[in-house]
Amino acid sequence: MKPITIAALASAAVLFAGVAQAQAPDFSKVEIKTTDLGHNTYMLEGQGGNITVAVGTDGVIMVDTQFAPLHDKIKAAIAKISPQPVKYVINTHYHGDHVDGNALFHKAGATIVAHDNLRIRMAAGTTNMFNGNKVPPAPADAVPTMTYQVGDMKVQVGGRTAELKHVINAHTDGDTWVYFADANVLALGDTFTNSRYPNIDWSNGGGIDGMILANERYLLAANEDTKIVPGHGALATKTNLREFVAVLIEARNRVKKLYDEGKSEQDVLAADPLADLNKKWAQPTGLASGPSFLRNVYNSFRNHN
Ligand SMILES: [Zn+2]
Ligand SMILES: [Zn+2]
Repeated sequence: MKPITIAALASAAVLFAGVAQAQAPDFSKVEIKTTDLGHNTYMLEGQGGNITVAVGTDGVIMVDTQFAPLHDKIKAAIAKISPQPVKYVINTHYHGDHVDGNALFHKAGATIVAHDNLRIRMAAGTTNMFNGNKVPPAPADAVPTMTYQVGDMKVQVGGRTAELKHVINAHTDGDTWVYFADANVLALGDTFTNSRYPNIDWSNGGGIDGMILANERYLLAANEDTKIVPGHGALATKTNLREFVAVLIEARNRVKKLYDEGKSEQDVLAADPLADLNKKWAQPTGLASGPSFLRNVYNSFRNHN
């Protein structure tokens, strides 16, 4: 196996610390799992945000790229599906576990596509007020060159169309969800995480109300046969989406009540109002743990300007 360079590891560690757990994963142990969603469309799981791949007659559309040190493994997994080149990479949002592989796919010929707020944040670098982590400006070849600001955008390769749609102030302020109508597949990035709390990046434009609105929109777009690729977690159905919307609304209402009563963040943490929900939805550590989710919902209501 090709050794991972120290520089690649260090850059991935910085990016990873900015988005998820404190510890960088051991990429050498990661295996890419491919799930056939039908109609030449696939879900790839490795380390970081789930990837969706749609194969056309003359090229491949890919949604998110995970971490750069996994590039060769992801490339090999796609090559097993199709000999066609990756023509477009669509990013759902700017977090490193979804975009760190961009530059390598771009160097191999792919055009990077995203909402324009993602381009701005990647080009400028970001600070996460939740944990203080800073992500430096991304190199030019990792930054999207094809963006949209309002409305929808379509990306096409032979016989395949990806419909890109923006939701306002949900996981971040630059979220895109992708619909492959011919395969009845939705790729939702981190605006939807299956059977676990989401992270909400409120210091970069996210918020709990936008998360709820986004997921209510997905419920309108999905039917009972829709295959839903979450940002994190296993392949999902509309039933999972309904449960996710219900827990977001319940958590939002409980925390908003305390917020409106004038309770401080520390008061709310001590009150532990989501204890019963945590049993099913909280991750043991990281940005989807019980306390992290509670803080993210609470901070959604504050004016950070
Ligand atoms: Zn993610
Ligand atoms: Zn994210």
